[in-house]
Amino acid sequence: MIEIISESKCISCNLCVSVCPTNVFDRTSGGIPVIARQSECQTCFMCELYCPVDAMYVSPDAESAQVVDENELEQAGLLGGYREKVGWGPGRTPVAKHPYMYELTTKGAIS
Ligand code: SF4
Ligand code: SF4
Repeated sequence: MIEIISESKCISCNLCVSVCPTNVFDRTSGGIPVIARQSECQTCFMCELYCPVDAMYVSPDAESAQVVDENELEQAGLLGGYREKVGWGPGRTPVAKHPYMYELTTKGAIS
């Protein structure tokens, strides 16, 4: 479930608003979207994937909201962490090239 938009990192591009399939966000006059309908989040990670500055955190817990601390998320590499793991963003390794994908194919999990 979407948990946070970092106001210090957000550049107000509104890509997250555009890609969210369930209209969780509202645009604002100040530019930084607000999480207006958190309970509508489907935990699809699309907003975090498309955020160009890693300003978002989607928790893998799809059932309930969490209390999160932005500084702790930042220190743990979790702001945009899913995006980083998938390999979206400059200088990152696409998920298809990660060693574990090779291991999956060689072990026959993927043919
Ligand atoms: S995780 Fe998906 S459903 Fe949830 S806010 Fe982001 S884009 Fe919308
Ligand atoms: S995609 Fe990221 S930078 Fe753009 S408005 Fe949303 S949170 Fe801000």
